[in-house]
This record gives sequence, C-alpha cells and structure tokens, in this order.
Amino acid sequence: MRALEATTHYFNQAADQLDLTDNMRVLLRTPKREVQVQIPVEMDNGELQTFIGYRVQHDNSRGPMKGGLRYHPEVDLDEVRSLASLMTWKTAVVNIPYGGAKGGISIDPRSVSVRELERITRKFIDQIHDVIGPDTDIPAPDVGTGAEVMAWIMSQYNKYHGFNPAVVTSKPVELFGMPGREEATGRGVGIFTLKTLSRLGRKIHETSVAIQGFGNVGSYAAQFLTEAECKVVAISDVSGGYYRPDGIDIAGALKYSREHRYSLEGYTEAERISNEELLELKVDVLIPAALGGVITSDNADRVQAPIIIEAANEPIRPDADKIFSDRGMTVLPDVLANAGGVTASYFEWAQNRQHYQWGLNRVRQELDHVLSSAFERVWDMSQERSVSLRVAAYMIGIGRVGRATILGGIA
Ligand code: GLU
Repeated sequence: MRALEATTHYFNQAADQLDLTDNMRVLLRTPKREVQVQIPVEMDNGELQTFIGYRVQHDNSRGPMKGGLRYHPEVDLDEVRSLASLMTWKTAVVNIPYGGAKGGISIDPRSVSVRELERITRKFIDQIHDVIGPDTDIPAPDVGTGAEVMAWIMSQYNKYHGFNPAVVTSKPVELFGMPGREEATGRGVGIFTLKTLSRLGRKIHETSVAIQGFGNVGSYAAQFLTEAECKVVAISDVSGGYYRPDGIDIAGALKYSREHRYSLEGYTEAERISNEELLELKVDVLIPAALGGVITSDNADRVQAPIIIEAANEPIRPDADKIFSDRGMTVLPDVLANAGGVTASYFEWAQNRQHYQWGLNRVRQELDHVLSSAFERVWDMSQERSVSLRVAAYMIGIGRVGRATILGGIA
C-alpha cells in the first residue's frame, strides 16, 4: 500500500465516525495546490544534474500552510501528498493556527557536497518562492534537512521579498531561530510517552524502550526518556541496531555518533542487531523514529511491545495498525506523537513576527502546555467513542478543519 492510500484509509475511518458526506470528504482530502519543479544544477565537477522538487499545499482553512521539506531519494508526489495532508490534521490536533503542506526533493543529501546542496536548495526556492511566504506556506525541516538548509531558504526567499525571517522555521538559533526548536519533536515524543505510561498505570522506571532511528527525533527522545528514568535498551540508525538489555549509555552513544559524522557505525558498547530485530524486541515501548512504512503486515505479528509511539511520520501501515488494534496494543499516532516539532515551529514563527525571542524555559513550558491539552483531548475522545487513539486524533483534526472550512464559506 502506498503512503497516500494509507492516509486516505485513516481519514476514511475517522470520516465514518463523523458521518461526513462523500462530497465533504472529497473537498477535505483534495490538496489546494501541487507544485512540481525542475531543479537544474551545475555540480562541483562542472556536470549538469537535474533534480525534481515538490511542494504540496493541502489545506489553509485554519491558517497558513505549514510543513517540512524532505530530502530523500524516495521522495515522490505520492509521499509528499500523503505527508501534506498529515500536516493538516496534525496542526489541527494540537490546535495551532495553521493548515498543512509538505515538500521535498528526490535526492540523497549525503551524496552531494555542502555547496552543491546549497545550490540545489537555492534553485528550488527560485522555483517556488512565489507560492510560499510567512502568510501562505512556511517550510521547515524534515528527513534529510536541518537548520542549515532553512537558513539558505530564508536567505534565498529574502532576495525576492525582503526581510522575512518567518518564511521558514527551525532556523539556526543565531539566525532568527529559537532555542528549543531542534529538540522539540523528540522532547514531545518523550512527553507523550510518559503520559501514555501514566494513563496505562505503568511505572516509568520499570519501562524498557527501543528507539528505531537516532537522528534529530530519536536522539532527543532517547535523552529525554533516559533523564526521566526509563531504560532505553536499543537504538539504531542506517548502520544497524545496538542493543544493551541493561540500558544504552545515551550520552555516550550521542557523543560517538557526533564524532563519527552522525553515524553509530563501529559503536561497540552494545550488541549489534539489525533494524528489523530492533522492531521485534521484547520491550515495553517501541518508538519508530526513522522513515515511514517500517511496520507492515509482514512483521506486525512479531512486534512484541504493547505500546508504540509513532515518532516518525507513517511508520505503521494500515494492515499492521489493524493487527495491533486487534491485539489490544496502544499506538500513539504520528499526528499527535511527533507534533512537538510543528508546535515549536509555531512559537518560532510567532516570535519572528514580533521580533522577540523566548528563552528555553518558556519554550519548554509552552510546548508542554499545548501538547498536554492535545493529548488529554485525544485520549478522552478515544475512550468516549471507543475508537483507537489514531481514529480519535483524526476525528479531532478533521472535525476542526471541516468546521473552519464551512465557517469560512465554500461557494
Ligand atoms: N517536518 C516536521 C513534521 O512532520 C515539522 C514541520 C514543521 O515544523 O513545520 O511535523
């Protein structure tokens, strides 16, 4: 099943609960605008290479569209469409005044030099600068992009439109960014994990956790949960998985990874396992924090963790989701679980517009506040309507977007 089919499946499950008419479903599912552009770039060796860039703007009924830019070889229109609609529901679930969008370039960023990546990014912005902007569509990082790429985007956009730091979020802190934005997605995952454990009556210090992915989201989630006294027993990245039943020394693993160009390759303080084996470990909490589609009907039966927190976007395909729900497992869905990132993006954007910067404590406090209320709302809805947390989250998101669409007037 392709990514978009999966999102549509989840959308329909919630739409059934909300008794949405077919016409309304089509309206809410259809993206407002889709842009696909050619990015011709001269590489360092003088050769010409052509990349394809995408920006899908799904919905703006609740505010400017918002969502990341993904640089990955598997980026295509289907995936970007799916992720764009996910952003619409995500911003609505946490109730921040945004719609949803997503973009990307089909490229392996590690296969090009930093200067080439900068040229590719700037050329991409040349192609899309007139459809993004602080009041229309605000990009941010996603898989394969980070603060550096955001700085180039701001600089390129400003060449056309003048000083506009709020055109993009998760910028370097020294360049109109915000302390606490980088950690926010992982921190949010940690906050939600603790809340889920508490709702299920589990003891934090007796909880073992496996985290797939040790990038921005996975590593900050690992740090947060270790500080909260959970035992993180397994981590992984593209080099493979690392398992230590007594708990991984997360600070040590982070230091190792930073010293080895953000790779755990060669890390010897834990047993080597594969990424697949990590997903099947007998732990209390599994956190897929890498790419989408890693849990399908092929491996769902072998997943033993009773609690799964979807830190990545779309890590579980619908057939696997059904298996988990039949087995009575608790799955905290991506549209809530990783919403800490876009919530902190909202804080950064709002401050950029006021030319003001909060300190880290304020950012963390406000993040905790927004995420906690969203969590309570989703959990309560799931109990009241006897639906999964995913269906509950989608119902809240779709309900808010649907109401805004109708109130704003359709015809
Ligand atoms: N790419 C992140 C996400 O999927 C962050 C988006 C943002 O901050 O706008 O939620």
